[in-house]
Amino acid sequence: MFYQPIMMDALSDYGSARYVIFGVPFDGTSSYRPGSRSGPNAMRQVSENFESYNPYFDIDLADLPIHDAGNLEVYASVNDTLRDLYYEVIPIVEADKVPLMLGGEHSLSYPCVKACAEHAGEDFGVVVLDAHFDLRNEFGGLKYNHACVSRHIIDTITDNYVSIGIRSGPKEEWEFAAKNDIRYYTPEDVLEMGTDELLSEVLDQLDCSRIYLSLDMDVFDPAYAPAVGTPEPFGLTSIQVRDMVRRLAPLSMGFDVVEITPEYDGGQTAILGTKLMREFIAAHAAIS
Ligand code: MN
Ligand code: MN
Repeated sequence: MFYQPIMMDALSDYGSARYVIFGVPFDGTSSYRPGSRSGPNAMRQVSENFESYNPYFDIDLADLPIHDAGNLEVYASVNDTLRDLYYEVIPIVEADKVPLMLGGEHSLSYPCVKACAEHAGEDFGVVVLDAHFDLRNEFGGLKYNHACVSRHIIDTITDNYVSIGIRSGPKEEWEFAAKNDIRYYTPEDVLEMGTDELLSEVLDQLDCSRIYLSLDMDVFDPAYAPAVGTPEPFGLTSIQVRDMVRRLAPLSMGFDVVEITPEYDGGQTAILGTKLMREFIAAHAAIS
């Protein structure tokens, strides 16, 4: 017998669930240090640490219709994995449930965004929290590399897109972003404007009522989240990102937490990512 952890307070069956958590233990294109395949179960394990009650929203997660569907079976090939993931997310979205993905690497966000966008139609935007542009057209010979996810979202799904926390990329990516008017905010912008004002501007720019929100955990300063595939100093704080998740969750059709590589720390990155997943659910349930 194998121990299969589930997310704490995910007590609902699939049929009656509004929130569907699933893991995708895939890190096949990781360029610096792999390990995010262990992210989903690490997040479930640390969830045992948390109270079900969220005092900020006065909501008890144990009272919400949350289902943990377990982990998707993955392939060695990124293309095969992304294809299956897309067909898993479609019925969740079509049943008006909220897909909540535990990554896995960032390339996995693409099929989730695609499924949500197809269901939403024109009234849709994407917010990515990330240290990196992820604007390469391909990387390491692979189109669907984790370092390309935002490029493919913008090119083939929607250019109603904003990224926050950006501080790393080759010169070509900065030039590409400038030339193509890709909207992004650096950690310095967040500090200068403050989270509230910045998010008001982001929501004005997106001008839509539904978004997909993707959290690449390397958006944090490594002091908060050291166990990620590609750590990058001078990042956001846990409070800044918490406030963004609280504000953006009510508009979100789907959400993911990706790039946690649990073996590189004592658990704090998985704890932070899991807490934000739970904060997302509470914030979403409080408004909608
Ligand atoms: Mn990324
Ligand atoms: Mn990143």
